[in-house]
Amino acid sequence: MRVISLGSGSSGNALLIEAGPNGRTRLLIDAGLPCRTLINRLHLAGVSPAQILAVLLTHEHDDHTMALPTLLRRYDPLVIADPATLAALVDNSRQGQEPNTTAGSRPDAAQPRFHRPGEEYPVRQGQDEQQRARVERGRASSQPLRRTLALPAGSSCLLGDIEIVSFPVPHDAAAPCGYLLSAGGCRVCVVVDSGSVTPIMLEAMRQADLLILEANHDRERLLRGPYSYALKMRILSPTGHLSNEQAAQAILQTWRADGLRWIWLAHLSQVNNTPHLALRSVQRYLAEAGATLQQVHLATLPRAMGAAWDSTRLWHDEYWWRCETLGER
Ligand SMILES: [Zn+2]
Ligand SMILES: [Zn+2]
Repeated sequence: MRVISLGSGSSGNALLIEAGPNGRTRLLIDAGLPCRTLINRLHLAGVSPAQILAVLLTHEHDDHTMALPTLLRRYDPLVIADPATLAALVDNSRQGQEPNTTAGSRPDAAQPRFHRPGEEYPVRQGQDEQQRARVERGRASSQPLRRTLALPAGSSCLLGDIEIVSFPVPHDAAAPCGYLLSAGGCRVCVVVDSGSVTPIMLEAMRQADLLILEANHDRERLLRGPYSYALKMRILSPTGHLSNEQAAQAILQTWRADGLRWIWLAHLSQVNNTPHLALRSVQRYLAEAGATLQQVHLATLPRAMGAAWDSTRLWHDEYWWRCETLGER
């Protein structure tokens, strides 16, 4: 499995995942960059946008979906998301609010239409039929979502060489999800945009060889920063965004003493965080808890394209072989 971050942060997010012989199963997790930027970065990764089999969405906010209308119009990939997320996208496009209309121009004040405190979102429970009907109507009226696969949070599916398991995360969107992807015996877990950490999230994170986890802000920096009181409260709420400290605690709770792990800290705020702060915070927590830092490859994801992971790295690591040898005795 190969994973490349095409962009990460409050202003835009997209991950490229490849698996199978010659990376034949290619998908995106989120498409929250200006479409031209996304396509250029795919080309830099050696991938044509036409080769993208599906776009897997964590939720419908702009910084995760802004390239979607153009991408769908030109290349028509399958869109996989919870039914409520699909319904929210259809509603947005009906209202003439295609996510790319304000693309990339408002870093960190991001998602202005969705992130107003107190704003109502569709409730998932008991509304599935209604939401499905709305998705169908969207298709019928030739909305951009022509090819969709509804994957309710908590369910799984097989897409080519990749097994996808989704799980709910707490965030102020219609039905936000995290994903655990498996291929060739390796697992990648993606958790972005989550205001708190739940047991089901920890269970998924525990299984990952590569964990991509939000570390949105430094709490002190956010509280002293320029944001309005309401926005600060929204970010700090249990359905807002994870702080460096919350990310560190989650990593500790999922710590495995028996193996290596790669961790990418993602979705860093440009205003309320820095890569240095995020790294220092997580390293401090791990060290204080007695975790062996040699066992972890910790990095922050930049706003620009950056960070690539190949599961064959697991094969080259001395620790992995040592474990194998011990296991054979
Ligand atoms: Zn969001
Ligand atoms: Zn986001």
